[in-house]
Amino acid sequence: MQEDVKQYLTKLEKDNVDFLQLQFTDIVGFVKTLTVPKNRFESALEEGVVFDGSSVAGYAQIEESDMRAVPDLSSYTVLPEKGKNYRIARFICQIHTPDGERFPGDPRYVLEKQLEKLHKNGMDFFVGPEFEFFIFKRDSNGNPTNIPSDYGGYFDNTPLDTASEIRQDILKTLYDLGYHPEAAHHEVAYGQHEIDLRYAQALVMADRVAMLKNIIKNAAQNHGLYATFMPKPVNGVNGSGMHVHQSIMSKGEKDNLFYEKKAKYGISELGMHYMAGVLKNINQGSAILASWVNSYKRLIPGYEAPVYISWANKNRSALIRVPAGEGMRKRMELRCSDSAGNPYLQFAVILGMGLYGIEHKLEAPEPVERDIFHMTAQEREESGIMSMPESLGEALHHFRNSKLMNEILGDHIFENFITVKQKEWDAFRSYVTKWEIDRYLPIL
Ligand code: GLN
Ligand code: MG
Ligand code: MG
Ligand code: MG
Repeated sequence: MQEDVKQYLTKLEKDNVDFLQLQFTDIVGFVKTLTVPKNRFESALEEGVVFDGSSVAGYAQIEESDMRAVPDLSSYTVLPEKGKNYRIARFICQIHTPDGERFPGDPRYVLEKQLEKLHKNGMDFFVGPEFEFFIFKRDSNGNPTNIPSDYGGYFDNTPLDTASEIRQDILKTLYDLGYHPEAAHHEVAYGQHEIDLRYAQALVMADRVAMLKNIIKNAAQNHGLYATFMPKPVNGVNGSGMHVHQSIMSKGEKDNLFYEKKAKYGISELGMHYMAGVLKNINQGSAILASWVNSYKRLIPGYEAPVYISWANKNRSALIRVPAGEGMRKRMELRCSDSAGNPYLQFAVILGMGLYGIEHKLEAPEPVERDIFHMTAQEREESGIMSMPESLGEALHHFRNSKLMNEILGDHIFENFITVKQKEWDAFRSYVTKWEIDRYLPIL
């Protein structure tokens, strides 16, 4: 038996663990888990567990469907479940092909490969997400509605409902897991909330975000409610985003390489090239960052979500905001990504776009501090401000033609993502909606 397997078996024994939860994600971002009882601990740790990859979105074809989920031992976490008479430990898995190779369709592998480019040069990528979501009531059959569970607004304390209790449950679990939650608060819309996590290395954070989704869903469910990451679940009010604060640091978090005290905006040359790369390639990466038909109903003017490609220090209508801050606090906040996507692919694509800017020494444009939503199309054109895709269809058009996305994601995920998402877009665009019937039938 391998030494590290032995070590973890001892740990499992000592921690009184009854079940192992093996976790990974499909390419669209659903978290998948497999539960293993005690009698299988040794074999699960030694050789992983075989599963049918053809049933996982974007994974494998029927003829190559036997995949193996192999625990990444360093991801070991005992889950802080309360009130149960058994204990569960969770491992995040690497996915292997039947030949024992890393499976190129595993989103976590894609992020690892992007990060390796930085590691080779003694650098690392750090991200801090602001994670927004809604909590809705269920109907009498227990099915989710889009009726908010409370009528609070931004930062409101709503003492008579369960929402603040749910937020506290989530924070407590995150704290117990050692995830360093920073804060939780009510967001702008009724029933909308936000959880902020302290920045961490991007792979660590992607694992945390995948877990966070389960934690949020469970916390709401425990109160008979339904939590959703659907980007725009209610007409006419703010949608839910996942703003991503990011920086490149030297390994060991010694130096923030985006910060340069004497530079014009306090951003280093490397940081400016990085930002230019993200701005230049954002339309190509949009299908991954905002990956659902519904994502594009959030990215419209008037709801604090970005629509135009620009950056700014204060202006929150910008796609990228560089908040005030010095030293380790200097960072860029990308605002188009949403909480419904696959965090591994989202972080990989963001980093890949930034690295492209660094490699090609791209120059970033000047910041735009004016409220872009109130500029005319002509003013925007004169200022060179382009728009982001208006629909998943448009985003897929940019994506499909992108060499960069193909390179970042590899052939397997690039092609499978197009297939899965084109189907989704085609289903939507060919569906006659209630809006059209209401609007057109009486007049045409
Ligand atoms: N909900 C907004 C979005 O869609 C963000 C609001 C905020 O955090 N200020 O991105
Ligand atoms: Mg926030
Ligand atoms: Mg927010
Ligand atoms: Mg923000």
